Amino acid sequence: MAECGVCFRHCSIAEGQLGFCGGRTARNGRVEAYNYGRVTALALDPIEKKPLARFFPGSRILSVGSFGCNLRCPFCQNHDISWSEQAGRYAEAAETISPEELVELAQAARQRGNIGIAFTYNEPLIGYEFVRDTARLAKAGGLKNVLVTNGTACLPVLEELKPYIDAMNIDLKGFTDRYYRKVLGGDRRQVMAFIEAAVKTSHVELTTLIVPGENDSEEEMRELSGWVSRLKNPDGEDVPLHISRFFPRFHMQDRKATDIRTVYRLAEIARETLAYVYTGNC
Ligand code: SF4
Repeated sequence: MAECGVCFRHCSIAEGQLGFCGGRTARNGRVEAYNYGRVTALALDPIEKKPLARFFPGSRILSVGSFGCNLRCPFCQNHDISWSEQAGRYAEAAETISPEELVELAQAARQRGNIGIAFTYNEPLIGYEFVRDTARLAKAGGLKNVLVTNGTACLPVLEELKPYIDAMNIDLKGFTDRYYRKVLGGDRRQVMAFIEAAVKTSHVELTTLIVPGENDSEEEMRELSGWVSRLKNPDGEDVPLHISRFFPRFHMQDRKATDIRTVYRLAEIARETLAYVYTGNC
């Protein structure tokens, strides 16, 4: 058995088997990325779609995704590449691309407004080696690197990537241990530690999806935004918070979409302590 130290799960993986996320395997007694360079999605997206509101607004970014995820959010909008049965089929069909080829594509897309590469769609840090190798080359070529992550990777992974990552959108999915552990299969303390470390070197924005009955109380938003207000980005500015509306999908169809008034009310509460609060999906 080999132990994976990439995320809070610390999987023990038998030779040739996959870790919980489906993106890492053990070979010759060592854990390595099974999804290295295996791309399931590639698109030139507006940067606001990541979402990043205060990092090169109006630009576009070449967005790339692979397969696998270490969380189990029942409402996942990318479940086909993250953790459904279908994800296994995607894994088999994924095309392989090298860091050099991806950087070349990103450079070619500059004429269409591209500023760099965003590692997104599935959880990119379960395959952090591809992010590191690509981002290093991209940075040397004058491109920006963006990570869209659930923030549950262990801090040494972040340390290794930090020199190359310019901006991140990190999910802060709620502010109770219960919700993270029981509903999402995550670890809130790990996410908080990750965010605290990330803001020291990268421009960070956070996203909270408001799910009815789970994380939609005013009290929880007050606690969450109060904690965020004590962080600052490297430029000394408040960390932007994106509050977005849930829609029933995948394994969470037992409730309606979040009432828009709830999203707006929670955004108002967040604005009591934060300078930059945005609403999404409304
Ligand atoms: S990254 Fe994947 S294999 Fe590694 S500990 Fe996390 S879930 Fe397990």
